[in-house]
Amino acid sequence: MRHPDVVIVGGGIIGCACAYYLSKEGVRVLLIERGGIGCGASKAGMTHVVTWEEPEVHLQLAKASRRLYQELSQVLPLDIQYRETGSIAIVERPEGMAAFEETVRRLQAWGVKCRLLSATELTSLEPNIAPDVGGGAYFEEDAQVSPLHATHAMAWAAKERGAVIETFSEVVGIERSPDGHQVTAVQTAKGRIPCSSIVIAAGAWSGQIAKLVGLDVPILPRKGTLVVTAPVPEGLFRCKILLAAGYMDSVREGASSSVAVAANIQQVKNGNLLLGSSRQFVGFDARVDAYVVSMMIKRNLRFFPVLAKVTAIRTWAGFRPYTPDLLPIISAVDSIEGLYIAAGHEGIGITEAPITGKLISQIVTGQAPDMPLGVLSLSRFNEIS
Ligand SMILES: Cc1cc2nc3c(=O)[nH]c(=O)nc-3n(C[C@H](O)[C@H](O)[C@H](O)COP(=O)(O)OP(=O)(O)OC[C@H]3O[C@@H](n4cnc5c(N)ncnc54)[C@H](O)[C@@H]3O)c2cc1C
Repeated sequence: MRHPDVVIVGGGIIGCACAYYLSKEGVRVLLIERGGIGCGASKAGMTHVVTWEEPEVHLQLAKASRRLYQELSQVLPLDIQYRETGSIAIVERPEGMAAFEETVRRLQAWGVKCRLLSATELTSLEPNIAPDVGGGAYFEEDAQVSPLHATHAMAWAAKERGAVIETFSEVVGIERSPDGHQVTAVQTAKGRIPCSSIVIAAGAWSGQIAKLVGLDVPILPRKGTLVVTAPVPEGLFRCKILLAAGYMDSVREGASSSVAVAANIQQVKNGNLLLGSSRQFVGFDARVDAYVVSMMIKRNLRFFPVLAKVTAIRTWAGFRPYTPDLLPIISAVDSIEGLYIAAGHEGIGITEAPITGKLISQIVTGQAPDMPLGVLSLSRFNEIS
């Protein structure tokens, strides 16, 4: 397509969700991805649709996305392996229960469907959890989706509505009008593509793309490593998503170079377990670090000793797009007409992709967004500095 209405930079789950919802509105979309569809964080991620990450704006985004995933699982041309599994968060020690109880009560007050579990309730539900944990909570509305299937399915459905998906093509420049206030074209290694709107959805690389127009977008790569096991029997864990309640603390740890690790296991449809998860600021160094893998396995064994009998078959790492306030940027750029940003979802981009795509389609087409976007605007960072 040589004259698209909108060019999307990046073919991860966020870019593909934008392509899907924009093309549903009849917008002529060209998505440009420098590798294959989903080759960035979206291929490296786990499967958790998390409905209880604070603050409240994440709860709203997750709730809206969960509803959209229910629809998408019915209409997309591929099985995205969406299933409403619930999840269990586990408190490591009895003395941690009081603080977690407070969190659960607060989440309940916001409408999150969850209930506390005593240590006895927990281990009778899940006999393969270590018997000396403090207790936990069950999150009824959490779900699973295959990020790679969802990414490809949304790209495919966008194509069915006329979108063009150009893979193995890198955006290397963005052109603006002489006064600098309006985007006019993107440049790729293959040529120049005139357009009046551009959505930067390049995940952890979004800051680099924004620099092409002199914009400072504070997104850093936050590396995450995963271990994959051979398929395990269905009943090994009854719930498909089990994680340490301290997982959310590892998300909130600041931008230091030390490693934050939290136990997190998810069983995918074909029986393999994904063992997570780590967080590190090491630039774009994608090498899998044996020390980090050993820390992750140790943390998971602490909660799930039965894993000692399981065979690990693969590891990989990917880059979560991190913002300093841990909120995504879903925003028009005030100073440059036609420029939009959909990035910075850190560890919750799989969850929030559908609503991000829908909100971007609403702001690009001039409709009222489904929710207020001030807290997700790019200008919130300018206001801070
Ligand atoms: C280990 C791990 C576990 C995770 N688990 C979960 C989970 O259970 N639940 C959840 O909700 N989230 C999870 N996440 C987070 C989630 O994976 C990310 O938030 C999400 O994938 C980000 O999607 P994205 O499309 O913004 O970025 P990406 O998928 O990284 O896509 C960005 C794309 O932009 C492309 N690109 C970059 N530069 C250019 C250029 N110049 N031109 C063209 N294209 C370009 C890249 O090639 C890339 O494909 C996890 C992440 C990791 C790493």
